[in-house]
Amino acid sequence: MNSKSTTKHNLLALKQLSDNLTSYFKVGSWWPGLSKDEIIIGAVLTQNTSWKNVKLSLDTLKENNLLEIKKFSNINKTYLMKLIKSSGFYKQKSQTLIDLSKLIEGYPTLNEFFKSPISKTREELLSIKGIGPETADSILLYAGDKSIFVVDNYTKRITKRVLGLDKELSYDELQESIHILTKSVKKYKALHGGFVELAKEYCKKEPICIKCPIKKYCVYFLNNKK
Ligand code: SF4
Repeated sequence: MNSKSTTKHNLLALKQLSDNLTSYFKVGSWWPGLSKDEIIIGAVLTQNTSWKNVKLSLDTLKENNLLEIKKFSNINKTYLMKLIKSSGFYKQKSQTLIDLSKLIEGYPTLNEFFKSPISKTREELLSIKGIGPETADSILLYAGDKSIFVVDNYTKRITKRVLGLDKELSYDELQESIHILTKSVKKYKALHGGFVELAKEYCKKEPICIKCPIKKYCVYFLNNKK
């Protein structure tokens, strides 16, 4: 967004939302992966499936000493498909992991891969079939510690309700708004985690507003309470 499409009022409301979310949900870094490799592989596997299923695949890769992205560049695709089957869409995800491995193999280390400007690394990630903005930005933020906010469907749903908007903001609009508020990697991680926690506990498809810790700031709640 350029600031033209985000009103001043929405920015202030977003700031209030982000301050409240990060103080209510002490989620720290949030992403469950331990190593950069695990985070990168997990970011691809988690598309359209639950983390429980991803964890099974990550455990299988670990048992086979394959929890390292560069190891996929020459792997037999059918074998990889078998190892990550629990994550679903395993044919496409295997190809994505192989292509990603080939890209990262061009750099001496993962740290070198993340050393380029964010826009260049993001463009390279997005050029791979199966990697969209959410996956690319998760890799950049959580594995690369880059200053970029990850937008997901939870973020879109919550901001629409809290800000009282007629329709959800787009990925770019939301990301650019949060980027106006802060550039802090730590805050991006805490805020992303806060959106996920709020959506899972309270702001579900059918929201449980009465118990929600931020209801007094939420336009949806204020408009709908009896
Ligand atoms: S008050 Fe309700 S709609 Fe608003 S953020 Fe909380 S759960 Fe979602």
